[in-house]
Amino acid sequence: MPKDYTYCPQCSKALIQAERGGRQRAICPDETCGFVHWNNPTPVVAAIVEHEEGIILVRNQGWPASWFGLVSGFLEADETPEEGILREIKEELAIDAQLVSFIGAYAFSMRNELILAYHVKAQGEITLSEEIAAYKAVPAQKLRPWPFGTGEAVRDWLTQQGFSHHLAE
Ligand SMILES: [Zn+2]
Repeated sequence: MPKDYTYCPQCSKALIQAERGGRQRAICPDETCGFVHWNNPTPVVAAIVEHEEGIILVRNQGWPASWFGLVSGFLEADETPEEGILREIKEELAIDAQLVSFIGAYAFSMRNELILAYHVKAQGEITLSEEIAAYKAVPAQKLRPWPFGTGEAVRDWLTQQGFSHHLAE
């Protein structure tokens, strides 16, 4: 969900709707303040983690039991996307990974995020961090994309790897 401001985060006046940069946006009516809520997407890094057990999918704490997705997370300040995804893998799974390729960039408009997806290879024994409830290892040929978010990266990666597949309904 996009964050919505009611009041200006700089001067606390009630925001109004006005056109800026070709779209309706929430702006501050105080011209000396000049705040505009641009609502730009937040970058998120994600990875297809190829491990000796299979492709590693994770379920975050609080997700329904059947939901698994790619390892993903937000960038820290001053971090490159490549550094960010390797750090997230280390934090969530306690394993070291090496970049293989960049899969692509995907708009996830439902969450106002831009997903930067990588293929990595990783080794070692997996130990889950507290934010991860469970993981599963899926053979690449049995991996199936899901129709939103990081699922698009899975679809493209499977195509790059030469696996045929269909988007799940
Ligand atoms: Zn303001």
